[in-house]
Amino acid sequence: MAEEWVNWSGSLRFTPGVVERPNNEEAVRQLVTQALEQKKKIRIAGAGHSSVPLVKTDQILVEQGKMNGVIAHDEETRRVKVLPGIHIAEIGEALVRRGLSMHNTGDVDFQRLAGAFGTGTHGSGIKLQNLPGMLTGCRLVDGRGRIREFTQENNPEMMNALRVSLGALGFFTELTIQTETARKFTREEYCTHIDTCMEHLDELINKNMMFDFYWYPRNDLVKLRLCNPEGEGMNKLSFAHKIKHEEGWLYQILPRDRKLKFDEMEYAIPYEAGPACFQEIRKRVKEKHRQYVAWRLFYRTIAADEGYLSPFHKRDSVTIAVLQNNVLEHERYFNDIEPIFRAYGGRPHWGKKFSLKAEELRPLYPKWDEFLQIRKEMDPEGVFLNEYLKEILGV
Ligand SMILES: Cc1cc2nc3c(=O)[nH]c(=O)nc-3n(C[C@H](O)[C@H](O)[C@H](O)COP(=O)(O)OP(=O)(O)OC[C@H]3O[C@@H](n4cnc5c(N)ncnc54)[C@H](O)[C@@H]3O)c2cc1C
Repeated sequence: MAEEWVNWSGSLRFTPGVVERPNNEEAVRQLVTQALEQKKKIRIAGAGHSSVPLVKTDQILVEQGKMNGVIAHDEETRRVKVLPGIHIAEIGEALVRRGLSMHNTGDVDFQRLAGAFGTGTHGSGIKLQNLPGMLTGCRLVDGRGRIREFTQENNPEMMNALRVSLGALGFFTELTIQTETARKFTREEYCTHIDTCMEHLDELINKNMMFDFYWYPRNDLVKLRLCNPEGEGMNKLSFAHKIKHEEGWLYQILPRDRKLKFDEMEYAIPYEAGPACFQEIRKRVKEKHRQYVAWRLFYRTIAADEGYLSPFHKRDSVTIAVLQNNVLEHERYFNDIEPIFRAYGGRPHWGKKFSLKAEELRPLYPKWDEFLQIRKEMDPEGVFLNEYLKEILGV
């Protein structure tokens, strides 16, 4: 038996049978072939930032720390090939050295790229897609032990299935991502009352490349966060007071250190429904949860994409996240808020807490059955399935 494996927040613990650390694609292929021969199961760990049991296994857990780095980049197309285990922070730095940048990042940069793609990790910006929106090609070892290669140009539908695939279609061994020319950005934070924020919400979302806000239940104040290429976007907000100004490359100023640990539930709802959904949650939090929930709520926007299991599939979206300190009980709070998200057609973040099972998830995703069909073809023996995936996918 290997040592106990613990995720970032500490809410997920298990002991795998064995931990493997392959250092190249051939080693991954051999691992999968052996697992098939021995009728064993494999789960692939990223950086362990998801708080649902996607990677839980008592059999083979694969870590990909040795499959890390940039392989090549094409100056003309700005497409970059990387190994799957590269951390988002590392890729940010490596890209800037080549005059390039990702279009956005999430709120932290500790995730490995393949892990971030696996659950549809996103930042904020109404014209910006989530991180797997960058994926234009990949190599992977499928559940039959075959090395497969797909590109956006040759197989767009397969790419749409692969973009957010929960580690259920195979082991990514190489990712090709579309990057942009690196630019310097300005990031500003302002403080104001929630009512003022909601009055100016459309303007804040549409006039800034990246905008999000935190709402603090105890005092009804918000922190507005604006991030724009230098010289663009809103500046000097007359209705809020500035608390922070930063300038730099996107990868340096976007992510934040998160030393205080928390558990989180986040749903993506149709863009138009964002304000009403938020206000209903705000009312509920103030009525029932403010006494024991000190954490803020987080409101972001994301552009639609085509990923079969992307929470933003074919709809511009707002995401709203509720958070609770990891040493405090979160179930009562999350269970009470989740039906509100669902009433607005919400789709859960695949890497955060939620209670839905396959029969509730399927109606939310028009391409659900196509995804399951592809999963069956890629991994007929279910070598990449665990109990949790079986439950949420209905396999
Ligand atoms: C502090 C914190 C902040 C966060 N901020 C954000 C945020 O701003 N925006 C957001 O959207 N989410 C956010 N998240 C959620 C986080 O981005 C996701 O849970 C993400 O999937 C974690 O990436 P990871 O590298 O830890 O992968 P893991 O959680 O370890 O794995 C995620 C999935 O990817 C699969 N996978 C990993 N590597 C491979 C591979 N090589 N091939 C195939 N499948 C693979 C795994 O099997 C698993 O199914 C945050 C989480 C935390 C803890």
